[in-house]
Amino acid sequence: MNDTTGIRARVDLKRIHDNVEKIVREANVGVMAVVKADAYGMGAYQVARALVDLVEGYCVFALEEAASAKLSETGKPTLVLGPPGAHNAAEHLEQRARPAVTTEAEADALKSAWPAVCVDTGMQRFSCPIDNLDHVIRAGDCREAFTHATSISQAEQFASLPMLRGMKLHASGSSLLHEPAALLNAVRPGIALFEEAIQISSRLIETRDTRGPAGYTGFSVRRHGVIFGGYGDGLRIGPCRVNGRLTRILEVGMQTSFVEIDSHDAVGDDVILLGDGLTPREIARSWQSSPHEVLVRLSSGAQRSYVE
Ligand SMILES: *Cc1c(COP(=O)(O)O)cnc(C)c1O
Repeated sequence: MNDTTGIRARVDLKRIHDNVEKIVREANVGVMAVVKADAYGMGAYQVARALVDLVEGYCVFALEEAASAKLSETGKPTLVLGPPGAHNAAEHLEQRARPAVTTEAEADALKSAWPAVCVDTGMQRFSCPIDNLDHVIRAGDCREAFTHATSISQAEQFASLPMLRGMKLHASGSSLLHEPAALLNAVRPGIALFEEAIQISSRLIETRDTRGPAGYTGFSVRRHGVIFGGYGDGLRIGPCRVNGRLTRILEVGMQTSFVEIDSHDAVGDDVILLGDGLTPREIARSWQSSPHEVLVRLSSGAQRSYVE
């Protein structure tokens, strides 16, 4: 967070709550809210607390994230999705966290912290190959298994594994929430928490009629404005909104960027970088990236505030 960039992120905690309420209603299984990477830049501490009445628990990537967001204070358990590294069972128990294990050695060492086994159905990263599952489950006395499914068929393959019978199973992040066959016993939404809940904006600090090629790249439009916020703050060339109109970030510098504007736009007007109908998905299309990267990048230099 940086006060001098002028980029602001407004996080609507009520909307995040409504989004999860809808997921709980429609999926009708437990929700383990994914608040890794500081809740995609929106503040894991605040987001977790806004959801405490709805969720079964939380997911983070690393145990340190559970500690720094003080997730244990919510009274809900946390699943650590990433590799446990050198952390021991006592450290997990202290954070009310269950580790994800993928080898017999990890499962054995972390047995008393209720490890979940992470099953490889195609991601081929931090996961146990199916032919070694029996050994890992036995070593960790695992009662929970999950996979990072990217398709319905991966979730179905996972759910049909005979050695997982009777265990708590989950496979879906946000992309499979509308697939009944992938819901199993719980879901792990991340990006879906933030639908229409985030507004990231800056403000016009200069406006000019463009005279000939401008900027580093020699862009040429009728009129342009300058905003605080550059690639140091995660900005990229792409769409933005000024006074209700869709326009473009024309060129990004270190700490400022050029925006195409029209004659009605004035110094002090808000430039919406995300939100007000401009979705992470739309921006991601322009960046040739994912909505996840859009949230994490655009929040990286922003001063956050919360609407309850
Ligand atoms: C990040 C992550 C999720 C959440 O993904 P979204 O697409 O943001 O919903 C779920 N499961 C695992 C294992 C993850 O790493």
